Amino acid sequence: MSFLKDIESTADYIGLENKYGAHNYHPLPVVLAKGEGVYVWDVEGKKYFDFLSAYSALNQGHGHPKIINALVKQAQTLALTSRAFYNDQLGLYEKYITQLFGFDKVLPMNTGAEAVETALKICRKWAYEKKGISEGEAQIIVCDNNFHGRTTTIISFSSDEESRGGFGPYTSGFIRIPYDDALALEMVLSTNNNIAGFLVEPIQGEAGVFVPQEGYLSKIREICTKYNVLLMVDEVQTGMGRTGKLLAVNHENVQPDVLILGKALSGGVYPVSAVLANDAVMNVIKPGQHGSTFGGNPIAAAVAVAALQVIEDEKLAENAEKLGRLFRERLNEYIAESKIVKLVRGKGLLNAIVINDTEKSETAFNICLALRDNGLLAKPTHGNIIRFAPPLIITEDQLIECVDIIVKTLEAFDN
Ligand code: PMP
Repeated sequence: MSFLKDIESTADYIGLENKYGAHNYHPLPVVLAKGEGVYVWDVEGKKYFDFLSAYSALNQGHGHPKIINALVKQAQTLALTSRAFYNDQLGLYEKYITQLFGFDKVLPMNTGAEAVETALKICRKWAYEKKGISEGEAQIIVCDNNFHGRTTTIISFSSDEESRGGFGPYTSGFIRIPYDDALALEMVLSTNNNIAGFLVEPIQGEAGVFVPQEGYLSKIREICTKYNVLLMVDEVQTGMGRTGKLLAVNHENVQPDVLILGKALSGGVYPVSAVLANDAVMNVIKPGQHGSTFGGNPIAAAVAVAALQVIEDEKLAENAEKLGRLFRERLNEYIAESKIVKLVRGKGLLNAIVINDTEKSETAFNICLALRDNGLLAKPTHGNIIRFAPPLIITEDQLIECVDIIVKTLEAFDN
């Protein structure tokens, strides 16, 4: 293409994005051109371990042949019908996913934020039609330091000024409580009859991989049932085997009322998200009240079935559980002697290290630059926290090689 003449180096591609793209991200300076399994390659041909997995969308690894085959085959057959008509893939997918997760129904969407918005709408409608809250009065409880996406309603209840500031006026109807605090939830519910639901991440990923105390998830389940409010669990980042179980709530055998999925639901090849609930909740949505041109399209349906099958067939949750333990064990051995790293935390293969520096410092970003130079790609979440989330197909040997890279890199900062 003539307009791409002379564009070949890392600097050339970064220059294009800087000049022509909105500056709504602060990417690590590396330009990727190819991916396969746990590896990606940049435009200069350098190979890296992908330790972000597109924020946990690539649990099944880059270019998984079964997922790509489903994508290509369906794209060549029928890509999009809209929901004005039925298609021959959607029903099969709906049956598969609802049976897998144990719900009556699914509502298909595309991005994580859209699925969260969908859950909030279902919850409010349920509150008016089933719980008897007066129209316009329903409130939804959320947590401090939540991350559920970037739409105006979602950022309205964010506690992160960077996400929220400057985008008002804000959507009302949300009450924020501390995370990992079941007592705080019960306090609000026992004094307010207008609560429709509680929206929560089973591990707060974007906030810096905060794992709640054991028992928190089962306790909030119990409390939501007691006060007849919908427990809405956002597993967009924690789902699909990432934390060592198919869902993070499975660690405590909790079944939410509303389950929100995205990211790895497509293995990272296509935007696919979903909201699952039982009939008593989902049936409040009637024709014309919610939808999306692309939600439930044949490619998405075929890809999601393949992506879910890969997680099951290749026992990716089990692998995440086993290798996650090994990862934290190895890093803890290093941290015992380290001044630059305070701690490692996480579940399965969703982990983070906390750098011994202020949140405003550049140290974590500089460590990520050094990791890149040493062949491993990761990114700070918040200031001094670096998240490590490789594809779940990673082998033990590869993981050990990666731990060696991480430790060697950190040691260079340890003085
Ligand atoms: N919920 C959670 C828990 C997430 O981690 C994210 C993305 N990081 C989202 C929702 C939003 O997903 P998307 O970027 O696909 O809108």
